[in-house]
Parts: sequence; C-alpha cells; structure tokens
Amino acid sequence: MLLLGGGFGGTYAAREFEEALALGDDLDVTLVNCDNIFPFTPMRHEVEARDLDITNVVSPIRELLRHVTFFHGDIEFINLLQRRVGLPHVSEIRSH
Ligand SMILES: Cc1cc2nc3c(=O)[nH]c(=O)nc-3n(C[C@H](O)[C@H](O)[C@H](O)COP(=O)(O)OP(=O)(O)OC[C@H]3O[C@@H](n4cnc5c(N)ncnc54)[C@H](O)[C@@H]3O)c2cc1C
Repeated sequence: MLLLGGGFGGTYAAREFEEALALGDDLDVTLVNCDNIFPFTPMRHEVEARDLDITNVVSPIRELLRHVTFFHGDIEFINLLQRRVGLPHVSEIRSH
C-alpha cells in the first residue's frame, strides 16, 4: 500500500498502520514524501512570532515510523486508472 504525501493525512495514516504492523499484521506500507519533515502547522505562527524555535514543531518522518517504509522523493505522476505512481530513481511503483 502506498501513502502519498507525508503531511497530516499521510503521516497520521502511516501512524495508524504502524500500530497494526506492530501487532503483527502482514502489510507492506510505504509513505512517500518530498522531504523527511513533518511540520506541525497549527504551531507555525508561534515560530513566526519567535515564541518557539522551529525545531519544536517539526519532526523527521523517518523517526516517527518504525514499520512503515519511508520513501523520500518527489511524486512525479499518479495514474489512478492503472494504479501506478512515478518516483525518482524508480521507474514506477504499482499500488495494491
Ligand atoms: C500556518 C497554518 C496553520 C494551520 N493550523 C491549523 C489548525 O490549527 N487546525 C487545522 O485543523 N488545520 C490547520 N491548518 C491546515 C492543516 O495544516 C491542513 O489542513 C493539513 O496539513 C492538510 O493535510 P494534508 O495531508 O491534506 O496536506 P499536507 O499536510 O499539506 O501534506 C501534503 C504533503 O505532501 C507533500 N507533497 C506535495 N506534493 C508532493 C510531491 N509531488 N511529491 C512528494 N510529496 C509531495 C507535501 O510536502 C506535504 O508534506 C493550518 C495550516 C497552516 C499553513
């Protein structure tokens, strides 16, 4: 299974799968995002107001995931009909 985009939707979905995988579910889950950072946007204004350092509101996605595979790269295309996704250095991944 492919989760595309490691923002709120993708990262929180991946965290749900983490729990299932930790319990032994036989799933192959990969999260794809263009960088290894999950920004907690609701606290962004505190960073911009300099009430908080940016390191307090960003988390490396890889550190949030132990069982879900993380692929760091730009999604080049999504073909929903053929269930295919284009990623750099990988010609294509077929989604299940
Ligand atoms: C300053 C600010 C404050 C906010 N405060 C709140 C709040 O208090 N409460 C609230 O409910 N919502 C808040 N939001 C809105 C909330 O952040 C969004 O609703 C939420 O992030 C949307 O989640 P998403 O997963 O759809 O998209 P995103 O979180 O934007 O995630 C999309 C991910 O996909 C990645 N991506 C995009 N294109 C590609 C590509 N081609 N290849 C690989 N990766 C790609 C992006 O880098 C990103 O990581 C706030 C937003 C901002 C900007």
